Amino acid sequence: MGKEQSLVVVKPDAMQKGLMGTIMDKFAEAGLEIVAAKVIEVTQELAQEHYQHLKEEKFFDELIKYITGSYHTKNVLALVYQKDNACNKIRDIIGATNPEEAKPTSLRGKYGRITTKGVFENVVHASESVEEAEREIKLWFRPNELTETNFPTQVEKTERQEVFWK
Ligand code: UDP
Ligand code: MG
Repeated sequence: MGKEQSLVVVKPDAMQKGLMGTIMDKFAEAGLEIVAAKVIEVTQELAQEHYQHLKEEKFFDELIKYITGSYHTKNVLALVYQKDNACNKIRDIIGATNPEEAKPTSLRGKYGRITTKGVFENVVHASESVEEAEREIKLWFRPNELTETNFPTQVEKTERQEVFWK
């Protein structure tokens, strides 16, 4: 049995503020190991699927705008970290969802803010549970983008066109 894994996303506000190094330093200090990393733009489809459980919330449309980069740079840094009890450890480091309630020493407490539109711009996403981590990692990454995984994989033949260097 391998170690517990969690998805972490450095959100657009943190990317624009140049906080990726600060955020990754905190996880490194806690002994968390990176097994995947990529810079991407979050599409509408990915955003809606990622936050599907919040569809009925009144802040949902603003949340989708936030995570797809309408208010900041479009890039996010998506990471997979692993360690025993990774999800709880990471959630502890980032702090509570509402930056006003987050411990002032946590990442969200230090660098987050609430906008006048009512969105919590809280700099970083991390999986809430082991179950959510599996769903999120499978949504954001292909198996071959992780250097290690416990999740079962299968090989499929596809007609998918892929881009190569020429
Ligand atoms: N969010 C918000 N207002 C709220 C609750 C959540 O703007 O009242 C945003 C915030 O950016 C949060 C994201 O929606 O990180 C996802 O919400 P969730 O409850 O899953 O919090 P998280 O797991 O990110 O701590
Ligand atoms: Mg959540």
